Amino acid sequence: MNTDDLTAGRIRLRQLQAVDDVVPATMTANIGCSAALVALLLDHGPGVLIGWFVLIAIMSGWRLTAALRVRQAVPMTASTRAIRRSIIQAGVMAVFFTSVPAWLLTQTSGVAYAIVVCFITGLLWAGGLVLSAISRAAAVYITLTVAITICGILVDGMTPYHLFLAFLFIVGGGTALRSAVRTSHTFVAAQLQQIAMERQSDVIGVLLKDYEEQASDWLWETDGELHYRNVSDRFVEALGRPHSEIEGIAFGALCVDESSADNAQMRRAIREQAEQRRTFRDLVIAFKIDGERCWWSFSGRPTYDEAGRFLGYRGVCSDVSTAKRAELRLEHLAHHDALTDLPNRMLFSRLLSQALEPQSASQLALLSLDLDGFKAVNDRHGHPIGDLLLVEVSQRLRSCLCAADHAARFGGDEFIVLHYGATSIAAIETLATCIIETLKAPFHIDGIEASIGVSIGIALGPQDGNTAEMLLKNVDAALYRAKADGRGLFRFFSAEMDGKLQDRRRIIQDLRLAIARNEFVLHYQPFVDSQSETVTGCEALLRWQHPERGLIQPGEFITLAEESGLIVEIGDWVLREACREAATWPSDLRVSVNVSALQFGRGRLPRTILSALAETGLLPSRLEIEVTEAVLIDDATAALDLLRQIRALGVRVALDDFGTGYSSLSYLRSFPFDKIKIDKSFVNDLAVRQDTQLIVRAIRDIAQGLGMSITAEGVETAEQADHLRGTGCQELQGYLYARPQPADELPFIAPGEPLALTA
Ligand code: C2E
Ligand code: MG
Ligand code: MG
Repeated sequence: MNTDDLTAGRIRLRQLQAVDDVVPATMTANIGCSAALVALLLDHGPGVLIGWFVLIAIMSGWRLTAALRVRQAVPMTASTRAIRRSIIQAGVMAVFFTSVPAWLLTQTSGVAYAIVVCFITGLLWAGGLVLSAISRAAAVYITLTVAITICGILVDGMTPYHLFLAFLFIVGGGTALRSAVRTSHTFVAAQLQQIAMERQSDVIGVLLKDYEEQASDWLWETDGELHYRNVSDRFVEALGRPHSEIEGIAFGALCVDESSADNAQMRRAIREQAEQRRTFRDLVIAFKIDGERCWWSFSGRPTYDEAGRFLGYRGVCSDVSTAKRAELRLEHLAHHDALTDLPNRMLFSRLLSQALEPQSASQLALLSLDLDGFKAVNDRHGHPIGDLLLVEVSQRLRSCLCAADHAARFGGDEFIVLHYGATSIAAIETLATCIIETLKAPFHIDGIEASIGVSIGIALGPQDGNTAEMLLKNVDAALYRAKADGRGLFRFFSAEMDGKLQDRRRIIQDLRLAIARNEFVLHYQPFVDSQSETVTGCEALLRWQHPERGLIQPGEFITLAEESGLIVEIGDWVLREACREAATWPSDLRVSVNVSALQFGRGRLPRTILSALAETGLLPSRLEIEVTEAVLIDDATAALDLLRQIRALGVRVALDDFGTGYSSLSYLRSFPFDKIKIDKSFVNDLAVRQDTQLIVRAIRDIAQGLGMSITAEGVETAEQADHLRGTGCQELQGYLYARPQPADELPFIAPGEPLALTA
């Protein structure tokens, strides 16, 4: 049976039930009224009337028992046959009930006649009304009743009175019929609506049951007093408490966590919504179940009865702990450094801004830390060890701080500390010294011993800056000074640093654009054979043709290029340009190029050199690179490996500025340099200091022993030249012979000029 058939069947059943519902009262009224009529008019035909009454009583009794039988059966639907049966019954009733009264119309007059007319009218309307749920039954009943009555009237006579009375019955019957049909339609429509609602509530019931059983959510409800009622087993199970404890508990008394202010606030919020009879959605409460923190989300809406009286709340509740934990974890990650779990720059800046707010009114010190030698550890032992080292550093750093202080990692090997309640400079100095000493101690990671240091810049708040931005900028300047002054130091910010820092920033900004704008130029300074004083090659020296500042010497920008990492790109350009230029020179001239220690960092220097040679066609033997001891300080193993690769290409390697740095003889032993360049400071002192002469001689002896040649730079006087020549230096370089100059001004390159260059 499809839904439409089912609905039709249910409607038919309700039509029959509506009729049957009034059958007891109607049948009793029938018997009573018929008995009264028979008693009153018995004289007009006792046999007919008593027989009729007996029939009426039997029929009414039968109808009554039929109605009761249907009621006991409680069927779901009724067939069309049952309706047809009820129509036939209505017809039979009309005939039985009306035929004798209609006959009485022909037998009576006066009051008796009027009583009969009233009786039939009552039958007509009462029957019509009773049967109005089934329009066709009502129609059959009314039509037959009117027809039989009119027959009785017209048989009695055809006077205008009779005709008028017949007419009244036709009108009355029509009206009764119309109202019965309308009532029937209203009844069917109401039943259809009722069935639809019942079906909907059935569906909702099934869904809710399903939801309760399968979902991770629970349904809850309260009474009008906002006490939990009808709590489900799953709900109490999830709470881990007995049913009796939950049933009847006040709405705000569940999910309590006394230790949390948030919990009280959220419970209050939900209670307020409920007290104002508002619908609420996804209000999350954090509390603990068996000591474990969890989050439940509540949604609910008020319910009312038909009269609009508040019945309570009904809603759903779901455990959103997993999502909440993930959300908190994400939030933590967004504000913390994944490696060390220290606050990151974003969170630290916020903390700093809060600490600087006027109402905080606290003295604070900002310490910016930069690890010395971290890069070397990272390069030598790999990133995993470097990462572990940073974790260890963060732990040692924490051990130096007070509970209220904050340490953060700004990425790489940059750490920062916010120290509250900075009472005296001495106390801050103690803190900085503690950090330096703590980080100085060797680290033991995975069987490796590594030593690093730290440089610290310090700025005080609010005097060195009343905004986070300004304080961070100034602490940066102090750190820069600490690093410039040597390693393992701390420096306080002073106003004069700010100007220098700004200058430095501007230069770095300009440097970034310099390559693209073609602002770099190379000047060349020849070096000569000490005996013949003929040019053997030239050193390429970088100059920056700044659009506003004019020609800038390398001393003013090389360090900044190194600090900003731009030296790698600039160094590549120098190499290519020097090779390109030297390729145009006579084939017995070399070019030497200065290479910064930072260019060794990425391990791609040999490849850059090879491609510069390949591009320009310069023979490798005509290229010389000059490195300083700094290359070997940070990570000697890796640097030596690269130097060997470079030498394997056939390129010469010179050790520049020997005598200024560590001047470690072990460096000379560790790599077979082709030449050593004695620094100009030695050359300067030669004439005046005896010990310098001894040192230069000692260097010469070592170099000779190791098969290296010696070049002296910064030769300004003939006396110095003579001395150096006498000591055994193979090459000389200095203003005595030539200053650094643009390639097109080099005399030995200009057409027709002699190659030899003498002072
Ligand atoms: P350096 O490699 O030791 O170069 C020698 C420096 O001494 C040059 O200074 C040169 O002009 C100067 N000099 C030469 N003869 C004399 C002299 O007789 N008396 C005096 N007082 N000075 C003399 P410059 O050109 O200013 O270069 C300074 C430093 O900048 C260089 O020292 C080198 O370390 C660095 N540099 C220059 N060009 C480059 C480059 O392309 N890359 C890298 N990484 N560093 C470079
Ligand atoms: Mg040099
Ligand atoms: Mg030098």
